[in-house]
Amino acid sequence: MDPERFRELGYRTVDRIAEFLKGLRERPVTPGESPAEVRAHLGNGALPERGAAPEELLEEAWRLLAGHSLLNGHPRFLGYVTSSAAPLGALADLAAAAVNPNVGGWTLAPMASEIEAQTVRWIAEFLGYPPSCGGLLVSGGNMANFVGFLAARRAKAEWDIRAEGAGCRRMTVYASSETHTWVQKAADLSGLGTQSIRWIPADRDFRMDLSELRRAIEADRAAGHLPFLVVGSAGTVSTGAVDPLPALAEIAQEHGLWFHVDGAYGAPAAALPDAGEDLRGLRYADSLAVDPHKWFYAPLEAGCTLVRDARRLQETFDYSPAYYHFDGEEEEQRLNYYALGPQNSRGFRALKVWLGLRAAGREGLARMIGDDIRLSRLLHREVQKREDLEALTQGLSVTTFRYVPRGVDRTDPAAAARLNELNEQLLNRIQAGGEAFLSNAVIEGKFALRACIVNFRTEQADIQALPEIVTRLGRETEAALAATSAIGRPAPPTAG
Ligand SMILES: *Cc1c(COP(=O)(O)O)cnc(C)c1O
Repeated sequence: MDPERFRELGYRTVDRIAEFLKGLRERPVTPGESPAEVRAHLGNGALPERGAAPEELLEEAWRLLAGHSLLNGHPRFLGYVTSSAAPLGALADLAAAAVNPNVGGWTLAPMASEIEAQTVRWIAEFLGYPPSCGGLLVSGGNMANFVGFLAARRAKAEWDIRAEGAGCRRMTVYASSETHTWVQKAADLSGLGTQSIRWIPADRDFRMDLSELRRAIEADRAAGHLPFLVVGSAGTVSTGAVDPLPALAEIAQEHGLWFHVDGAYGAPAAALPDAGEDLRGLRYADSLAVDPHKWFYAPLEAGCTLVRDARRLQETFDYSPAYYHFDGEEEEQRLNYYALGPQNSRGFRALKVWLGLRAAGREGLARMIGDDIRLSRLLHREVQKREDLEALTQGLSVTTFRYVPRGVDRTDPAAAARLNELNEQLLNRIQAGGEAFLSNAVIEGKFALRACIVNFRTEQADIQALPEIVTRLGRETEAALAATSAIGRPAPPTAG
């Protein structure tokens, strides 16, 4: 592709994107198509034998993507912990891909490596974590937590675990029952096995129970195991609960354990002026995971691990192979990211994060995060006002609630299963309908609708419209369920 052609196609692509962004609010959040419908749009042609004109390909690709995607940039997308992406990030990714630095080695990516280092330091500063820390960008929260986990395992094993593996003695991890599933993957992939995880019960506010934690560590010690890691959550996925991080840090220190904080979602809220001491306690972590593709509004993918003692990453990952000669001549040490994490070749993820931080500034970013939290609290209040909705939890920017039709006694155990089914079906209806997008949580056995606002496009009016949408679809769901249970239910088995 010659440069003039690139210019022409690029302008056209940017024009399409700009129109798309302009029209987001007018579109359904999702077309709600089935896999078969989506495949039918795509077609099932074989790998093309001959090439085709990029102009048509780009147009077709855009048509497929823009017309048949869930739009997490939509102001009424409030699902999971997926954020709306700053448009600046899309331009950053284009620029990063065009220069294509390989941020595995400094020599291959001099400026990009330095920008990543600066980005990591700024993230630490924003979160109130010591800026002298080490760190790097990875693909997301799972990998960011995994990197912290591996650093802990390397640091706390009493033998050369990188050479000998995990078999010598059981190493045990302490995480609350509300912890994200990354911890299972990490225990599994690191060779410790998921049986190394001690699931510590959570209290009524979904925070780790401290006396249970102490008891579990002591029991493992007594049994001859090697407790090595306490995992705290700075914002759980289900309810946005924040573990008492300073207390966890103290217990970890008392027992000589590594303290890791999963702040994939909630860590950025520590930068708010009214952040509580429990959340600010993330500064005591030996390692901390945070997801720039969540509350820093970077496009996917960008996760980040910070490690208090910068040497820990190199101790965990470096093998300095003979075929790399990256050290240069000068005294100054060169930053070779391949030696600090699991990846070898690495893309320039940092650019979109770095630009996002600069464009918003500390003040702008804190304001957007604060707005999301305020909107979530507003939703909780709006839900409380309605007779046919039951507000369940509110933490950070997560509100959970459920639809309870008038006349149903929500404390009646016989109604519990029915309410769960009703709300599960309702969620399906909401998700397919495209008016707004919610996800779910299970709160003390109750199937709940869950709105998590990580979205700078959501406005007060979007939140105020939500209870009405939910109750209308709730009534429709109820009617549909009543119809199927009258007509569609198989006949009960006859006696004999
Ligand atoms: C999102 C999330 C993760 C996983 O992060 P990914 O970016 O999806 O890999 C882990 N922990 C928490 C608390 C999260 O919110």
